[in-house]
Amino acid sequence: MYLGQVNWRIKKTLKALFVLYQENKVSMPIDVWEMIELFKTAANANWTESYGSFCGVNNIEIDYSSYGGKGLLVPSEDRRNFQIHLGAANSDFFDERLTIAHELAHIIWPESRGFLDRISQKERTCDYIAMLILCPPPVLMKCLKKEFCTFSVQLNLFRKHKTELLRLEQMAKFFQVPFKDFIKHIKLIFKENKVRGLLDRLSDTK
Ligand SMILES: [Zn+2]
Repeated sequence: MYLGQVNWRIKKTLKALFVLYQENKVSMPIDVWEMIELFKTAANANWTESYGSFCGVNNIEIDYSSYGGKGLLVPSEDRRNFQIHLGAANSDFFDERLTIAHELAHIIWPESRGFLDRISQKERTCDYIAMLILCPPPVLMKCLKKEFCTFSVQLNLFRKHKTELLRLEQMAKFFQVPFKDFIKHIKLIFKENKVRGLLDRLSDTK
């Protein structure tokens, strides 16, 4: 996973979240409130004692404010309650879902907060975590395996064949995430594993 800079607690939390998804038979596209509830459970289970500036999550609220940007995370004074301000810069409902998941990443990774421009490495990692939350790897890999099962189809994807891009677009709709962010995510996955590695991983998830 493209999670080099995050600590093991964050990775553990994400793994716990995917287990909770499975145990609760979460269906895709994941409902935002269900996602938030399970996220809280996973985060709290992996921070039994106070860790750094993260003290667990009590409550997460979403506020549709007139904030101009995409999303803004406002922790309470005791750092246990969070408000996610959803701003006007989100282009649609899919974008809002991604922004909410992005802010969830900031909740479990306090060191990543306070970077306002989205190009910073920490911001990009939060984007990546957000995609993991919305498109859990076990489900995503299953979809990729189904749609891009042959080597030639995968190569076509690299060559940006229209048919393959259309398949990816359908997949992004299935997860209800913005297409352009989904493509970015897939590219990162491919980059990490290279095509052969991906094939190996796909055959592992039979
Ligand atoms: Zn951010």
